[in-house]
Amino acid sequence: MSGLYIHIPYCHSKCAYCDFYSTPRADTVPAYIDAMIEELRMRKDEISSEPLTTIYLGGGTPSSLPVSQLAKLMEAIGHSFDTSSVIETTIEVNPEDVTPEFLKDVKALGFNRVSMGVQSLSDTELQAVGRRHTAEEALTAIGLVASAFKNYNVDIIFGLPYQTLGSLTSTLDRILTFRPPHVSAYLLSYEPGTRLYAALMASKVREISDSEAEEMYSYVSSRLNQAGYCHYEISNYALPGYRSRHNSAYWKLKPYLGLGASAHSFDGDIRRYNPSSIKSYIEAINAGKCCYIIDEEADWQKFNDMILVSLRTSDGILLSSLESWPERFAVDFMSQLQPLISGGNVINDNGAIKIPQEKWLTSNAVMRELILSY
Ligand code: SF4
Repeated sequence: MSGLYIHIPYCHSKCAYCDFYSTPRADTVPAYIDAMIEELRMRKDEISSEPLTTIYLGGGTPSSLPVSQLAKLMEAIGHSFDTSSVIETTIEVNPEDVTPEFLKDVKALGFNRVSMGVQSLSDTELQAVGRRHTAEEALTAIGLVASAFKNYNVDIIFGLPYQTLGSLTSTLDRILTFRPPHVSAYLLSYEPGTRLYAALMASKVREISDSEAEEMYSYVSSRLNQAGYCHYEISNYALPGYRSRHNSAYWKLKPYLGLGASAHSFDGDIRRYNPSSIKSYIEAINAGKCCYIIDEEADWQKFNDMILVSLRTSDGILLSSLESWPERFAVDFMSQLQPLISGGNVINDNGAIKIPQEKWLTSNAVMRELILSY
């Protein structure tokens, strides 16, 4: 199995917390789509050893594009790949773009999964982070998506300015009335360079404490578990049969090709990174050149990548899988593991090494203890 990720770096406006590469200036959209189609033609063989099984249009805000441009892109994908094995085709959308017509159009283009950034159902919280939609508009959009798509995801954020456990409870309760098949819940982070970070530095907003974050995280996790969702990755919850196949493939280190400015790729061995500049990206592709940078990783760094992605998930690391790595990596990993198991920070669950779910929010510290350095 392999995946195709397409990065759409356009948004109607910039949210206060966002450090993803995106711009509100849409004048380059046609040239950008043409460049991605050309990049697709140039690089499709990077993942040709495995059948293409998932396609994901992320951003940015893919739903901000004209449907004609989305159609052009999807047609080019159909010409470049055998799509007969594709089981999941996702488009990220924002509530303000969701209309019955839009959903009908994207369905006709082959999308069978929608991922929507709702973030909160409190207008105060939405305004505090510069979201363009209201709670009411988000509810209407969820209803429209729910009636058009069987498979969809709703993103929420916890730790927002002015958010309380009570308002988070209200947001989650109202979302769960739709019983979305998948929910992603992220802890707000204050990234340098964002408007929210500047507001924090100017003491205009307050970052929640670690104990408040843990309280919200464990509330979301237990509420969704009680409602029948499986907490299968640090930030992701799914009803049976609705895990994100595309993202799950990332965590299983399956190959994927990422197209567009700032997109990452992994061919099963080597990681490549495109530049975070629409202008440089279009210029390079128009000159007939791929513009990625290759991440020159030693084998032990690839082993660390495996640790970092696997321990994010409820599947963890199968001890039997260590046999495919050089023996000294497995030996050093096991010796670093023992004190963490004794301290209860890691468990051996029938041959799978896992971080207990109640410790996932602080899993970075555990992972730091486990990664190798030579
Ligand atoms: S819509 Fe998404 S990608 Fe765009 S600015 Fe907001 S958070 Fe960032």
